Amino acid sequence: MNSMHSMNCSDLRHMTLQDICSYLPPYALPYTAKKKLLLCDRDGVLNEDTHFPHLMQDLRILPGAAEALRMFRAAGYNIAVVSNQGGIGMGLYPEADFFTFNEELCRLLAQEGAYLDRIYWCPHPEGQTDCICRKPKPGMILRAMADFGVREEDVLLAGDRFSDVQAASSAHVQGYLLRSGWWRDEKGNPGDWPAADSLRDLAALKAYAGNDKID
Ligand SMILES: [Zn+2]
Repeated sequence: MNSMHSMNCSDLRHMTLQDICSYLPPYALPYTAKKKLLLCDRDGVLNEDTHFPHLMQDLRILPGAAEALRMFRAAGYNIAVVSNQGGIGMGLYPEADFFTFNEELCRLLAQEGAYLDRIYWCPHPEGQTDCICRKPKPGMILRAMADFGVREEDVLLAGDRFSDVQAASSAHVQGYLLRSGWWRDEKGNPGDWPAADSLRDLAALKAYAGNDKID
């Protein structure tokens, strides 16, 4: 569960779930097996989506995000990020910037008592047909479910784009469309998906201590 894996983007034809990029983020708590798993998109859910945010000046944690993570953890969830980072594959920024950004994000969250257990990311650009991880494909979700040993019915995914909830649907897990990011610019009907205003609002709905079920 704790080795960094970064795959070579040049040969995706034989990519399997094991090749999906993930790592143990800074400030993570010692791993504890839990029954439930919250999967969060990063940009537009934990931090403001300034369109390919990767510089410190772009890093602003969304109101209530840290509190929401604390609530989910108290309610028996492990928490992982599943993030499309097509800007890496497009050459907009190096992968090192992604790690530096995450380091600061995790530091700021830890200051508020909130922690991430794993970060999954897809570095492949939009239109990369062989990649199995870029949402709306379900690869990152399936890999996370295998890593954390959770059942479909015990996974909750929070994202601000249709590709997030579509990926959740493909993986047969419950997805929630948050109105905290880019959802309003997406084509389609947000009313088609279960929704919440923010991760904090979703936590109020789904994560109260003692709640043993996701319904
Ligand atoms: Zn990918």
